[in-house]
Amino acid sequence: MDGDVIVVGGGPVGLFLAAELKLAGAEPLVLERLLTPSEETKARGLGALATEALWRRGLGDQLAEADVDGTKDLARDHGSTRGHFANIFKIVPDETRPRTNIWQPELERVLAKHAEGVRILRGHEVTAVESDVDGVTVTAGRREWRAQYLVGCDGGRSAVRTLAGFGFPGTAALLHTIAGRVRFAGDVPPSGRYPTGTFMHGGSMAGVTELATGAEPEVTPDALAASIKRVTGRTVVVEEIHDARRFGDQARQADTYRRGRVFLAGDAAHVHSPSGGQGLNLGLLDAANLGWKLGAVIRGDKPEVFLDTYTRERHPAGEAVLRNTRAQSALLAPGAHVNALREIFGEVLDLPEANKYFADLLSGVRERYNFPYPAPKPVGEHCPDLEIIGGDGRRSRLHEHTRTGRGLLLTAAHPADPRVDVVRVTNTGPLLLRPDGVIAWAGEGPLDVALATWF
Ligand SMILES: Cc1cc2nc3c(=O)[nH]c(=O)nc-3n(C[C@H](O)[C@H](O)[C@H](O)COP(=O)(O)OP(=O)(O)OC[C@H]3O[C@@H](n4cnc5c(N)ncnc54)[C@H](O)[C@@H]3O)c2cc1C
Repeated sequence: MDGDVIVVGGGPVGLFLAAELKLAGAEPLVLERLLTPSEETKARGLGALATEALWRRGLGDQLAEADVDGTKDLARDHGSTRGHFANIFKIVPDETRPRTNIWQPELERVLAKHAEGVRILRGHEVTAVESDVDGVTVTAGRREWRAQYLVGCDGGRSAVRTLAGFGFPGTAALLHTIAGRVRFAGDVPPSGRYPTGTFMHGGSMAGVTELATGAEPEVTPDALAASIKRVTGRTVVVEEIHDARRFGDQARQADTYRRGRVFLAGDAAHVHSPSGGQGLNLGLLDAANLGWKLGAVIRGDKPEVFLDTYTRERHPAGEAVLRNTRAQSALLAPGAHVNALREIFGEVLDLPEANKYFADLLSGVRERYNFPYPAPKPVGEHCPDLEIIGGDGRRSRLHEHTRTGRGLLLTAAHPADPRVDVVRVTNTGPLLLRPDGVIAWAGEGPLDVALATWF
């Protein structure tokens, strides 16, 4: 065996998963095809749940530092730091559960440092996967690697997904966008919705969205100028384009996230449009959910069947994001009928309760897992970063008590339990938290059942 778990893909999800596995006492091996980390500026923000997941592992200061410039860049490029649903920039940020504005390459640097000590082999593209009763063998280059488990974190075009025979049903792209940091010579048409698409220009960013034709548009200065001409009817001269991106809004999800010893996480398990910036939130939460569970099975604390809870909990979370990104695509499509719908939708977002509904929808904070024992809310939800007042009156935040990656019991009275860390609190009711920050018990029903289920 070359490790307990082979993680294919050293993007953000693979790196975080590897760090979580290590923390849980497993030996991960990351195989990454690129020789050096990607500098592609895809995501520019982390949702609340992913932000809290990284705080729990002590990365809060680094995220806060990156957020200063990230927020300035967001204001420059979008003219607003509000969130958006289908480019309707009205979503009021939830200050109690903040996002982090961080560019993806910066996030990957933070996560690579966090995963220090994990064996990460670059320049290894996985091209074959063989699974048997004892383990999984993968081929990368001329070498084979073997471990008990394999997790494909190899992105939207996942080779692991195909090689291990996962289904990937969903919908084809309705829209295509090309965008980048652009220098124009001369006049630029106004940003806005046009009869056949949308042209956006703010700060140094420009982008065009058109109906997808099946052919993926190139991202060259000429291709961008041609697309702007098709949409706005105006001829522009594009002198330079940097940080170019091209993306469709195809929405697909693996039919299961586990086939025997092989798992999928992140974009390998689900692809959707980047509208609302939810991909990393979803993917990093997959990693947070799977890491400690695999660790528990590898340590022998839990039986293999425990790993089925990964699909059971994370597949619905993926479905929810596919649903709302499809809805956003419908609102981004060109046409007079959609213009009317957008106007009405904008009016709905002016209602504080509706605004909060959409903020929560995008951040996933209302997401709730179904547990195998009856338990009322907030059991099954991700716990926010609570303030904690200890027995001695000392104040701290929840994330200061979660670095070990173990379960955590917050209690005024319960005695120590070897399965979890126990912290005395005086300002909140009792709570049992899983290592992924999910509330497993909140004072109602037997604590022993919750402890035995997860630990
Ligand atoms: C334009 C754009 C804007 C976005 N904005 C946001 C945003 O604001 N917020 C947000 O949350 N999300 C956003 N996203 C989505 C986000 O970028 C992805 O969800 C995220 O990159 C997924 O991370 P991942 O680790 O699953 O996959 P990836 O980042 O794709 O990483 C996969 C890794 O696997 C490696 N790999 C692939 N195949 C193999 C192989 N066969 N063998 C070995 N290694 C392999 C790749 O080289 C890569 O390093 C955006 C995406 C785009 C395109």
